[in-house]
Amino acid sequence: MKEKIWLSSPHLTGEEQKYVKQAFDDNWVAPLGPNVNGLEQDICNYTGSKSCSVLSSGTAAIHLALILLGIEENDEVICSSFTFSASANPIRYQKAIPVFVDSEKDTWNMCPVLLEEAIKDRIRKGKTPKAIILVHLYGMPAKMDEILGVASQYKIPIIEDAAEALGAFYKDKAMGTFGELGIFSFNGNKIITTSGGGALVSDNPEYCKRATFLATQARDDAPHYEHTTIGFNYRMSNILAGIGRGQMEVLDDRVKAKRNVFDTYVKALESIKEIKFLYESKDTFSNRWLTTILLENYDQREMVRLALQDENIEARPLWKPMHLQPIFNTFPKYTNGISEDLFRKGLCLPSGSNMTNLQQQRVIDAILKLF
Ligand SMILES: *Cc1c(COP(=O)(O)O)cnc(C)c1O
Repeated sequence: MKEKIWLSSPHLTGEEQKYVKQAFDDNWVAPLGPNVNGLEQDICNYTGSKSCSVLSSGTAAIHLALILLGIEENDEVICSSFTFSASANPIRYQKAIPVFVDSEKDTWNMCPVLLEEAIKDRIRKGKTPKAIILVHLYGMPAKMDEILGVASQYKIPIIEDAAEALGAFYKDKAMGTFGELGIFSFNGNKIITTSGGGALVSDNPEYCKRATFLATQARDDAPHYEHTTIGFNYRMSNILAGIGRGQMEVLDDRVKAKRNVFDTYVKALESIKEIKFLYESKDTFSNRWLTTILLENYDQREMVRLALQDENIEARPLWKPMHLQPIFNTFPKYTNGISEDLFRKGLCLPSGSNMTNLQQQRVIDAILKLF
């Protein structure tokens, strides 16, 4: 059996251990400490956000963002349909109602035209949506000017799910910093990792302060344990934050490597008429977390996926839209067929920043053989 090539595997430098060792040496083995504060500062410095709270996961960050915006039972929250379920699950933690909005063709993210249609229709039906969860999928920025225009017209706050988009920019501004709140993920497969973790960012420091309070069991200021609100155990540990600090040092290198992987695939496969790539539009800078391709139809997509599988190469279909998921398909949706089509024809190729040239050539050769 040939050596396995993964979609995107953790890529450590070893420098992370310097911060982790410091945590051991100082006995800061707790969900607080210098690495926790340091990582928050690093994220603010990198993204230009005014405040940050590091948490146990990106999912926890979305959950707290919804709570901070006051989302309660039966409130409606608009969410990109073309995404990973973790974008939408926290809506249900709050017993709120997800309203799914389909994609546009240029970035595959939420369609601004359909977003406005959805808002108008929800208002007609009696309820103004309370928030918009906007995803930048595979590290590609959404059409921010248009989306922000619609959101501000109807005064609906945006939570940016930038779990896949740390290191991506729109008009030189970091993804995650456009909305009222933004979230990042440091799961093992993301562009940088703490093994598991996430962050909430906002230009309103009160939000992040409140998030940290809620994430550490909502302890009021008293010598004993006093609680006036329900808390969570969502804080990041000082050990994992140490890994995060080491990873932040190489974030730009990781983005460069991911973009290089994309460019290499394009050069090798662009001339195959059956294969289409997603290019950046004007003003957008993708981190190219995963390189994605579109084939002409489902059968071709499966042919490529299975051929790669035979070579012990991991490739995965694009995200199955939320409005098609058994757990979400009864909720309101505004669709145009685009995400469904992408799901049928699309494939993620191995895109690890630690993939060698030889490994990438193996993927390319396996695909070239088919066309
Ligand atoms: C990974 C991911 C999340 C969840 O992040 P976790 O840290 O794994 O909880 C949310 N949204 C998107 C789009 C993701 O890819």
